[in-house]
Amino acid sequence: GRWVYHRVQDAGGFVRFDDVRLPPTTQGLHYGTGAFEGIRAHGGADGGRMHLFRVRDHYLRFLRSCRLLRIEVGLSADELTDLTVDLLRRNGDTGDVYVRPLAYKLGLLPGTPPGVGLGGISEAVTIVASRLGAYTPPGGVRCLISSWRRPSRAAVPVQAKITGGYVNSALAVEDARAAGYDDAILLNDAGQVAEASTANVFAVRGGTLLTPPADADILPGITRDTVLALAADLGMAVAEQPLHPADLLLADEVFLTGTGVGVTPVIEINGRPIGAGRPGPVTSRLVARYRQVVRAEREDTRRWLTPVKPG
Ligand code: PMP
Repeated sequence: GRWVYHRVQDAGGFVRFDDVRLPPTTQGLHYGTGAFEGIRAHGGADGGRMHLFRVRDHYLRFLRSCRLLRIEVGLSADELTDLTVDLLRRNGDTGDVYVRPLAYKLGLLPGTPPGVGLGGISEAVTIVASRLGAYTPPGGVRCLISSWRRPSRAAVPVQAKITGGYVNSALAVEDARAAGYDDAILLNDAGQVAEASTANVFAVRGGTLLTPPADADILPGITRDTVLALAADLGMAVAEQPLHPADLLLADEVFLTGTGVGVTPVIEINGRPIGAGRPGPVTSRLVARYRQVVRAEREDTRRWLTPVKPG
């Protein structure tokens, strides 16, 4: 079996996947009191060395999410990064890997009813790494604008990756899939475009990239930030501004950004083709550039990469 990192309170180490036990009283399971990240490592071109992408930025966000929940991880972003590199080496990974760190509240004592108090309980951290390549079709995805709204940041800290907050994404995705779509796009309470279920949204209009601003109740994604930087490098105009559903329906191009989906074209929304109904030129340029960056084919963005030497 594969190795995972597992830590309960102050004691942590590498254990086999099947040896991790989750008590049925685990509070995070009952109340969604956990925080997580999604991080990717990519194999280099031509079987070159694998690299983690912006791993430190992901762990800094992880620690901020944990802090909101008063979860003491007891490890720094650098320590978490080193543990992740160790984990990938132990598992002998060389190709594309998805890394999922998770911190959650456990419970008072084994067997204690989970409803006993929300504070003052023990905590656990796991890091699981799974082999996972691209999972969105290169030809693009079809989205449904969901009738479920993204909760406001006044109700849930949407800038953090808190497990309980994802019930909202799950409801939206389930409905979109049941209606034959690939993913959902959620509006915020003001009816503005917020984001997809696990990705940020961009539109292209007259060659300019448009994306909702950080205060539109979005998770300000690391891929979003990466794409904004790459667009500037490529000389593309960019505006972070509120978008309404019609702005997406009338855009020349729409695409999603996220650690899981990378840069993925959206070819249809609510049954209407976007632009020509196939990936557009601006999206395709960004898809290609992002792929080069994460596969360590460019020198100018090496600062975002952490090499994983074979174990
Ligand atoms: N929004 C939500 C709700 C997400 O879960 C994700 C995935 N982490 C994103 C946006 C994209 O964020 P990132 O680019 O940091 O993966």
